[in-house]
Amino acid sequence: MSLTLASGNAHKVHEFEHILGVPVRGLKEIKDPPDLIEDGDTFEANALIKARGLRDFLCDWALADDSGLAVEALDGAPGVYSARYAGEHGDDEANNQLLLRNLEGEENRKAAFVCVLAVCGPNGEEWVVRGECTGTISHTPSGDHGFGYDPLFVPDGHTESFAQLGDDIKAGISHRANALDLLLNHPDQPLKRMM
Ligand code: IMP
Repeated sequence: MSLTLASGNAHKVHEFEHILGVPVRGLKEIKDPPDLIEDGDTFEANALIKARGLRDFLCDWALADDSGLAVEALDGAPGVYSARYAGEHGDDEANNQLLLRNLEGEENRKAAFVCVLAVCGPNGEEWVVRGECTGTISHTPSGDHGFGYDPLFVPDGHTESFAQLGDDIKAGISHRANALDLLLNHPDQPLKRMM
């Protein structure tokens, strides 16, 4: 049993494996993977672009995760631009520093991680779900676990960042875990159909 995720982000692949307990194949494990251009304005649009693109390439089931951070005082930024907030795609350190600069002097540190999952099947089947995890943005990065904005994001009900809390706690409460929960409890059972 395995799932194919339309992502080259090894951290995301690892989180899916950790939450689901089954092997997950990412784009790095596919020979000459398709170039999936995420040019949508919403998480939903980008998740569907990636899942449809991989489904069409494989002629088989595909799962995609489009996710990011929405900060209240920044009108929802970085949002769909989370991975390339500071310019270069995936430069987590620069993204975190820019976020801190843009929140300098700001008292409202409320934010939410958002994860939209899309499942697309070979016969045109499609499901899209959205999970969220609310929290606050701390004033300095802390912790070594996870990726992206994890060192700055303190989930509600905790006093430490995701990067300090580690994989097990994150896997229980994260936006990704909440979105997966919706797929696992969906009456159509999209993940079972995939596997
Ligand atoms: P995507 O690969 O286009 O969905 O971009 C996701 C980006 O959102 C990542 O590069 C991170 O910057 C951020 N992000 C999404 N999920 C997480 C998470 O679980 N922890 C930290 N950052 C995340």
